[in-house]
Amino acid sequence: MQRPSETRTSDTRRAETHEEAERVLRLCSACMYCDGFCAVFPAIAGKAFFSLVEVAHLANLCHACRGCWYACQYAPPHPFAVNLPQALAAAREASYAGFVRPRCLAPALDRPMVAVAVVLITTLAMVLGVLIAVPSAELFAVHRGEGAFYEIVPLPLMSGAAGLSLLWAVVSLAWSTLAFWRAVDPRVKRGVLRKALKPALRDIVILKNLGGGGHGCNDVDGRFSRERRWSHHLLVGGLLGTLVATVSAAALHHLAGLAAPYGWFSLPVLSGTLGGVAMLAGIGGLAAIELRGDRDPTLATERRHNAVFLALLALVAASGLAVLLLRETGLMGLVLTLHLGLVTGFFLALPMSKMIHAPFRAVALLRAAIDRIVAPPRRSGGE
Ligand code: SF4
Ligand code: SF4
Repeated sequence: MQRPSETRTSDTRRAETHEEAERVLRLCSACMYCDGFCAVFPAIAGKAFFSLVEVAHLANLCHACRGCWYACQYAPPHPFAVNLPQALAAAREASYAGFVRPRCLAPALDRPMVAVAVVLITTLAMVLGVLIAVPSAELFAVHRGEGAFYEIVPLPLMSGAAGLSLLWAVVSLAWSTLAFWRAVDPRVKRGVLRKALKPALRDIVILKNLGGGGHGCNDVDGRFSRERRWSHHLLVGGLLGTLVATVSAAALHHLAGLAAPYGWFSLPVLSGTLGGVAMLAGIGGLAAIELRGDRDPTLATERRHNAVFLALLALVAASGLAVLLLRETGLMGLVLTLHLGLVTGFFLALPMSKMIHAPFRAVALLRAAIDRIVAPPRRSGGE
């Protein structure tokens, strides 16, 4: 439970965050030099006031491409000290803490290391449990053939741990997303909502706002590049590959009666391997940008969230590939347990991790697509 002084401090911080974001947004709305870089500028055109909810919407609409930082003639040392990417990053972080459900997760969103602790404790508990419950001779023996994995970790325990933790993540993220949507919902007719779904989905899938208006983002410095956009695509594509692996393995098990492990050229193994490799490549690309990138237009808390999320994802992907490579050796049992612990801990930590940015950004893009239909901007934005 938060102490009164902590509540006051976080309330003051949120008020200051909103004040700064609103100040900068007002200047940008008057200037509009960066119109065309992303969806934020058409959304602020002609506006002089920005409520807390509007700032939260705009903050999640911003993809942190940094284009407006390098283009801005009012950036420091100019006395206006405009730093729109940083002001929106702070507002974005505040929106995660403000709309996360259950609300008790809010303090964890201010402290990215909580997610790390959740993953480490879960993994440690699972590894210790297996070390205690499974005799060493059996744990470190070579297990081959159908059902080999379940000789170490019984199927009900494996699917129960991963399934229940995933259920928690889905319920919490859906609840948080609904809370955010209810706040930014422009309450239009269903027909308008349906019409907006297609362009919103397109913007989400192609990461249009990581295009900088066509020439690319300022991923690292003043030069334009598409590194972040492609790394992000690789990461999401890899995640989809692992999803295909999980679903196809479940189908083989429950519909065809074939227990894992599966052959090298089976759908679960092929999609899982390609997915894991793509994820690691995407994570590597994003991590390299984080390390090399100019820090002025960023926010320390957001950088920490990014680093923690990428590191945890990398551990999950690498341990999954290790299970595949070591499955016919005496290390399979330990590596499998480690992977299961990491996956379970990762799912438990998802609602308080950077993952929350994905559904919130989708909501912001849907709202922006609706706004373009009901009140088209005076000046066009995007690519
Ligand atoms: S970021 Fe700077 S140049 Fe761009 S619209 Fe805002 S004030 Fe103008
Ligand atoms: S998406 Fe890029 S150009 Fe748009 S507000 Fe964010 S940092 Fe600026």
